[in-house]
Amino acid sequence: MTEIPKNAVKCLDKGFVRLVDSMGGDDAIVQAARVSYGKGTSKVSQDRGLIRYLMRHRHTTPFEMVEFKFHCKMPIFVARQWVRHRTANINEYSLRYSEARDEFYYPDPKQIQFQSALNKQGRSGNVPKQLTDKLLKYFKEISERSFDMYKELNEAGLARELIRAILPVNLYTEWYWKNDLHNLLHFIGLRSDSHAQYEIRVYSDAMAKAVKKVAPFAWEAYQDYVISGLRFSRVEQSLLEQRLPDRVIDDILEDVAYQITATLHNNKRREDADLFPLYQKQGGSDSEDDFKLKWASGEIEIGNVRELREFKTKLKQLKK
Ligand SMILES: Cc1cc2nc3c(=O)[nH]c(=O)nc-3n(C[C@H](O)[C@H](O)[C@H](O)COP(=O)(O)OP(=O)(O)OC[C@H]3O[C@@H](n4cnc5c(N)ncnc54)[C@H](O)[C@@H]3O)c2cc1C
Repeated sequence: MTEIPKNAVKCLDKGFVRLVDSMGGDDAIVQAARVSYGKGTSKVSQDRGLIRYLMRHRHTTPFEMVEFKFHCKMPIFVARQWVRHRTANINEYSLRYSEARDEFYYPDPKQIQFQSALNKQGRSGNVPKQLTDKLLKYFKEISERSFDMYKELNEAGLARELIRAILPVNLYTEWYWKNDLHNLLHFIGLRSDSHAQYEIRVYSDAMAKAVKKVAPFAWEAYQDYVISGLRFSRVEQSLLEQRLPDRVIDDILEDVAYQITATLHNNKRREDADLFPLYQKQGGSDSEDDFKLKWASGEIEIGNVRELREFKTKLKQLKK
């Protein structure tokens, strides 16, 4: 099996993730999206805005235009979880064809914890050293003993496709794994989440670094709208509608009017005299004096006009 290559990110005790190849990046997403909108080329800031729009509205196919091919080495029990992501193309090291190598995963003592009482799929709490040592001793014993048996059976000429079955699932395997950006982000969203098992999270986090480099705008949009975005169920929405006082919504709408004005001004400079009417056009209701004070404070955040207008529409829907 492969030693850890120079350009790979080390994962767990003996594994790694290495980006072998990628096709396209943010530009490929924009290029594909513009076919559907029939527009020509444009500036970088517009590319970012378009990618954010696509992510916000779950217009996903342009993200499938970007491809990633990774070479990964991981314990078999991690591969079992990983392989559930069905949209990838995989080619794995064959234990029918090749001999198994003496490479087993031994957890870092810091990762050895008790079964979580709250989360049936999790671990928590500190384990006394005596118990940690025992766990590691058992891991080693079973790995070494089963590998000795495997070697003996292999030397006796028995079929590798059968004798591999006596090896435990902490044995390392490796594969080439290719996926498109849309499905890779979905994988990272699920497997870098705190609910995912630590051992697969390490690999997902390593792949996330590659995505961030290859498609930084898409990565940023994914973080903003999917990972940090909130979606409300019908019941939650109805509670918000009932419980959020109109004055709170009005305050937020007021802020949004300032933000749209500042963003429009940032995108295309306006004369000072045009600013207050522009703010009023966005629904702002402060007096001209208050407007001037707030404007001079320099505390108004800039965003994306389309996104802010969509937010405004949603806020208005919450008003009774
Ligand atoms: C924290 C966690 C706990 C889990 N626990 C369990 C468990 O206890 N038991 C268990 O069995 N699994 C478990 N899983 C695996 C989980 O149920 C999914 O199988 C896995 O996360 C892959 O998700 P996916 O199908 O969305 O991804 P992918 O297979 O990558 O698919 C991506 C998307 O493509 C679409 N898609 C792909 N293939 C098809 C298809 N054939 N038909 C229709 N749509 C398709 C779907 O929209 C899907 O969301 C767990 C996963 C996580 C993250």
